[in-house]
Amino acid sequence: MTLLSIQNLKVHFHTEDGAVRAVNDVDLVIEEGETLGLIGETGCGKTVLGLSILRLLSENTKVEGKILYKGKDLLKLNEGEMRKIRGKEIAMIFQNPLTSMNPVLTIGTQISEPFELHQGLKKKDAIQKVIAILKLVRIPSPSERINEYPHEFSGGMRQRAMIAMGLACEPSLILADEPTKGLDVTIQAQVVDLMKELTTNSKTSMLLITHDLGVAAELCDNIAVMYPGEIVEYADIKELFKNPKHPYTQGFLGSLPGRGLKPMNGMSPSLIDLPEGCKFHPRCPFARERCKNKRPEMVEIGKKHFVRCFLYD
Ligand code: SF4
Repeated sequence: MTLLSIQNLKVHFHTEDGAVRAVNDVDLVIEEGETLGLIGETGCGKTVLGLSILRLLSENTKVEGKILYKGKDLLKLNEGEMRKIRGKEIAMIFQNPLTSMNPVLTIGTQISEPFELHQGLKKKDAIQKVIAILKLVRIPSPSERINEYPHEFSGGMRQRAMIAMGLACEPSLILADEPTKGLDVTIQAQVVDLMKELTTNSKTSMLLITHDLGVAAELCDNIAVMYPGEIVEYADIKELFKNPKHPYTQGFLGSLPGRGLKPMNGMSPSLIDLPEGCKFHPRCPFARERCKNKRPEMVEIGKKHFVRCFLYD
């Protein structure tokens, strides 16, 4: 069953330098229990897309389209209705726990908040829940650790505490934004294992926002590849790795260790100054005249495999 359906989503900001066109006509679907990976280079609009789902963007943002969660358009809800969704129905795991957590509140106080807010638990009962959930994410001696502050946790423990915070109210959907960024390889592997275990053992769906294809390969069922502001390829994880079709996906995969380590030509365009036509044309080895003037549509080239490129229309 479809849990989240994003339709024709546009997210633009107005700045002194001009309009930042961060998300342009994006369509995405997440089914119940599915983990969808949203991958692409830094600055391609992935995080903005995630934040727009929870309506956590600043006031100078223009958002158009539909974000249907369990059939309800989140863009039409009032702030009170959104507050009931945030944390309870849809939770976000941010990429940097040190800046996302409140430094002057203990871990116990921060994680108990959603239990008190959304489940109406008394402080004492909420703390018992916090201890149980910290145990679940393998924080040692949780009944003592709840009295510590974020800076007293190691990087890996902080990230696990963030995951615990996200899971607190058993949300139907988790938006995980670069959950392993900045962690060393061993801790990263532990966090990935933990997330895999937690999503496999529950019906929780996840949108995993990452530029790390290794992490995506471990956790995702399907992948949407984003290139400044738009989705350029969508496929299930095995198909995408075996049979990437979009020249950008091919270049992105080809730049990885073990797949050639071949850097791609050029740089990603600025979201303020996107090229006309296919956004990838200035870097694409297959670009033709029409790629410069016309935006390609998404076409289905195989079972659940979609590509936005004139080579396949
Ligand atoms: Fe390259 Fe043209 Fe395909 Fe864009 S549409 S990826 S420029 S071949």
